[in-house]
Amino acid sequence: MKCKKIKDYLFEYTEGLLDDKTKKEVKEHLGVCKNCQAEYKAIQEYKTGMSRLKEVEAPSNFLNKVHTRIQQDSLMKRIYKKIFVPFKLKFPLELAGVAAAVLFFIWLSPSLHKKNKSMEIVFKLKGTGERAE
Ligand SMILES: [Zn+2]
Repeated sequence: MKCKKIKDYLFEYTEGLLDDKTKKEVKEHLGVCKNCQAEYKAIQEYKTGMSRLKEVEAPSNFLNKVHTRIQQDSLMKRIYKKIFVPFKLKFPLELAGVAAAVLFFIWLSPSLHKKNKSMEIVFKLKGTGERAE
């Protein structure tokens, strides 16, 4: 088994969740590969560190604070919906966007057209100039 595969199994290996065959392969690999050994040690240290953490009791008003926070969020969502979601309001905003885009292209296209015409004139003038020479 390659290191990448072994590293995928390391956490399950430390938890004793692997089948016997895979467990044996991981164990053999750990015996010869320093890289995977180091990662295995890190996982074990992490696991030990986590088990040493004490349980912390939440403050008595914790749940009330969470509920208040959730209600505030939903109030903000309701306000947001009232402003943007109703079809009557939303559609004109989209329409305004489309109209702005159309106007922009209309504004842009004559200027491009004029530039093209002026370029045509320049080419024509150059063309006639060459003929004159
Ligand atoms: Zn390895």
